[in-house]
Amino acid sequence: MSEHSFIVHEIKGYISSLFLVEENNRFFLLDAGCSCDFYKIKRFFEKNGKHLSSLKLVVVTHMHPDHAGGVRHFKRLGIPVASTEGAYKWYRGIGGFIQHKIDTYLAKFSAKRKGNIIEDVRYDRFFQPDFLLKDNDSLPFFPDWKAIKTPGHTFYDISVYNEEKKIVYLADLVLMLDGKFVLPFPVLFPKLMRKSLEKVADLNLKKILLAHGGMIENGENGIDFRKVILDLKENLGGKIRKEFRLLYPFCVFPHDKLFCVFKKGCE
Ligand SMILES: [Zn+2]
Repeated sequence: MSEHSFIVHEIKGYISSLFLVEENNRFFLLDAGCSCDFYKIKRFFEKNGKHLSSLKLVVVTHMHPDHAGGVRHFKRLGIPVASTEGAYKWYRGIGGFIQHKIDTYLAKFSAKRKGNIIEDVRYDRFFQPDFLLKDNDSLPFFPDWKAIKTPGHTFYDISVYNEEKKIVYLADLVLMLDGKFVLPFPVLFPKLMRKSLEKVADLNLKKILLAHGGMIENGENGIDFRKVILDLKENLGGKIRKEFRLLYPFCVFPHDKLFCVFKKGCE
């Protein structure tokens, strides 16, 4: 492998796909998955004759249970976790406390709907990142990759971008469900979401990694990322599935969302 080459491994987690990026025998993990996904990651290393100690970094893009759920396992082993200030802010206050309970329940509900057996998705509502990522910060130990702010789904989402290879991990900014690109649920901050989609559409991407949808190449099956992303931007504020419409009132408790509702205009 040359200095800059890498391999992306996709691991099917309980609810989402997790991506392990391998560079010169060192790994970083894109999102910590649900709490129960930790054991799938561990198995991946064992199966490939590697030790978990070659996992040098876990990046958490936002605080939902299928992205931040596994954090405590990695921290317990001393594997550093990089994230945003959302790690200690998203579920703050009484609203955050309620939302954390609801989101944990919704994770269980969505796994059940997918026909998955019930596994443990409980997790802590705060954690202290070992590395705090701001917009355009390079990842610790993996300087070819950087965090870019892409809020909208929550207030603190980031994506992880390799500028040279034009690959981005979009976490929950865009989803592929039943063969169709869709916006995530919920979009709590539509104005921020619009800006995030515009930002990503301009990256001239060759490959995208989706937590819900996997790894997709530009041009594959005639897919044009820029068009897909700009079309999604046009759909913002449009119709959403009935079940999501019914669930939306249960997603507005985080402090940052309530603050926007009262203040008006910042969402
Ligand atoms: Zn999410």
